[in-house]
Amino acid sequence: MRLGIISALHEEQHGLVEAMQGAATALHGGRVYTLGKLWEIDAVCVLSRIGKVAGAVTATLLVEKFDVTHILFTGVAGAGDRSIAVGDIVVADALVQHDMDASPLFPRFEVPLTGLAHFQSDHAMSLQLLAAAHGFLEHDLAGVIDAAQRAAFGLGQPRVHRGLISSGDQFMNDGAAIDALNAALPGLVAVEMEGAAVAQVCYELGVPCAVMRTISDNANEEAATDFLAFVSAVASKYAFYIVRRYCQGLLERR
Ligand code: SAH
Repeated sequence: MRLGIISALHEEQHGLVEAMQGAATALHGGRVYTLGKLWEIDAVCVLSRIGKVAGAVTATLLVEKFDVTHILFTGVAGAGDRSIAVGDIVVADALVQHDMDASPLFPRFEVPLTGLAHFQSDHAMSLQLLAAAHGFLEHDLAGVIDAAQRAAFGLGQPRVHRGLISSGDQFMNDGAAIDALNAALPGLVAVEMEGAAVAQVCYELGVPCAVMRTISDNANEEAATDFLAFVSAVASKYAFYIVRRYCQGLLERR
């Protein structure tokens, strides 16, 4: 197994690269790929930057040039449902490109000539990620982000959700638009800008993938407030400790 780990922003992956053993870097297509071991797991970490094309080319190169066998995306997302709060964790069952619309030639959301709107994540990887996320909330969170910071960012009792994640090339900051998307896409838990593109590439190349996102905003009019502060103070910790639990879980199962 060789695990590819993608994030869009530096702050989402901050810490993982530093934790790599025997790290070496390779520059390709304007991105730095860091190869090494993460808690004994052979891994390649890379920042895709933002958007579906960025996610797609990064996933493709991870597979075709860096020989990864599995891809994990870790980052932040806006809430896709009003019951989901900032600080919650979502793990994708499936992913959809919410700005794909070739209707009336093809149904809304369907990627033309694939017959698919929903791209499934890998079931086993997603279950392992869910376990890691629950373990993080139960055992790590209180020690990793202090009470004052949890209060400052409005983290109450964060929860884990699994469901549909949608991706599109826009930052969603309109409550009415999110409600409409939620109505059109049953089971929607989060909106972001890369995951569904990575999932399509992985489907086409036959590589299992999973997507984990920390909810950074409600995708409404307040979405931009303190976005980067949240990502570096909160989401980077979530990513680090959840990926650590995920890798340690893989190791135990060997
Ligand atoms: N204001 C930020 C913009 C980052 S774009 C900046 O200046 O850097 C948002 C990134 O986080 C994308 O990679 C996307 O996947 C994710 N994301 C978080 N909240 C989102 C939302 N409400 N809508 C779309 N993407 C969101």
